[in-house]
Amino acid sequence: MKCKSCGKEIAENTSICPNCGFDLEAFGKKQKVIIYEDPEVETSEKASLIDRPILAFIFGILSVISSILFVTSRNIVVLFLAMLISFTYLTFRNASKPGKVKLRPFADVGKVFAYFAIGFLIFKIVFDLLGDLFF
Ligand SMILES: [Zn+2]
Repeated sequence: MKCKSCGKEIAENTSICPNCGFDLEAFGKKQKVIIYEDPEVETSEKASLIDRPILAFIFGILSVISSILFVTSRNIVVLFLAMLISFTYLTFRNASKPGKVKLRPFADVGKVFAYFAIGFLIFKIVFDLLGDLFF
C-alpha cells in the first residue's frame, strides 16, 4: 500500500510509516468518524434499520392525510384528530430510532410531513378561534 502522507510504497498493515513517521493507524480511525456508517445493532434488530425509516415515511404521509381530513371534515373530527396525533407520534418515534444511513432521507421526509400536519392542525385551531372572536 501507499503511505497516505508521503506516498511511498510501504508494507501492508503498517501502523507507522517507516519513511516519514506518519501515524497511519490514527489516520484510519479518524476516517471512520468522518464516514457515516450504519448503526451497529444486534442481528435480531437488523431488519428494523430498514423498517423504521420507511415506517417514519409512511406514517408521515398518513399524518398529512389525517390533517387534511381533520381540517376539511365537518363530522367525525375527533377520529381524524386521534389519527393525526397517533400518526405524527409514530412518525417521530420511528424517525428517532437508529436506521440505515442510506434510508435516513425517508425518515427526514416523514418528519417534514409530520411537522406539516401539526402546522396544519395549529393553523386550523387558530383560524377557528379567530373566527369565533371576529365573526
Ligand atoms: Zn510516509
